[in-house]
Amino acid sequence: MARAVERALRERRYLVAEAGTGTGKTLAYLVPAALSGRRVIVSTATKTLQEQIWGKDIPLLRERCGLDFAAAYLKGRSNYYCLARGAEFARAPTFAAREEAALWPVIEAWSRATETGDRSELDLPDQLHTWKDLSATAETCTGRECERYEDCFVTRARALAGQSDVLLVNHHLFFADLAMRTSRAGVEILPDYDVVIFDEAHALEEVATEYFGLQVSSYRVDELGRDALRAVGDRPDLASMMRDATGELRRAGERFFQAVADGLRAGGGGAGPQRGFGARGAPRG
Ligand code: SF4
Repeated sequence: MARAVERALRERRYLVAEAGTGTGKTLAYLVPAALSGRRVIVSTATKTLQEQIWGKDIPLLRERCGLDFAAAYLKGRSNYYCLARGAEFARAPTFAAREEAALWPVIEAWSRATETGDRSELDLPDQLHTWKDLSATAETCTGRECERYEDCFVTRARALAGQSDVLLVNHHLFFADLAMRTSRAGVEILPDYDVVIFDEAHALEEVATEYFGLQVSSYRVDELGRDALRAVGDRPDLASMMRDATGELRRAGERFFQAVADGLRAGGGGAGPQRGFGARGAPRG
């Protein structure tokens, strides 16, 4: 497999490889990737594999096998402590759940000492509600306008990613970046790269669908009708026309979702779409 990966990298070809668990697949692609002299993204589905690659395989290659390459591990923004939001929170800490207050002194001390701001350095519960106030999302991060932008952990992690030969990410981050690159905004999360290796590639379809697929639900059609009516709330001259239009939209939506439900029943159901459809489907994102 290592030879096949090396050849694919050299000849710029696609390669699909499959091998059983525990046979050394990771090393079989990491070695040629590290030796290729190009920037290679390694994308995986699970945290367990990322931790294995970052904590065991990469150190093994660098420290024990003497391979000289720069590696970085980039996670989604919400994994990093946000200096701006953290400072705001610290001024008047309020906790979503009372038991989380006990963790605050630990988090606060760590936030002053950490080099990475990566929450995985702390043994925090997965469902720590307060973390939302201590991290940023694409909506809450003010980017270059933030006064902590230069020393921000996300900025630093991205700078390190920009200097790496091998960059470890997960499928979500990879496709979020791809979606942003292909959108009109043209914004990028990842640095430019030459090669991408997908490990745990069986999970790609679901993640790619999330970023490039289209979802419709009866809830969203109803909501569109409600929004349209609200938009002409102060225009009595348009109200009756809009009531007719949204009434027709609602009826067309009901016919559509009924037809989908009938089709799925007749065809024995489909694994994907069935979950999101139905005469009264639940909201889906
Ligand atoms: S740049 Fe964004 S993530 Fe970084 S400190 Fe500022 S708001 Fe937080």
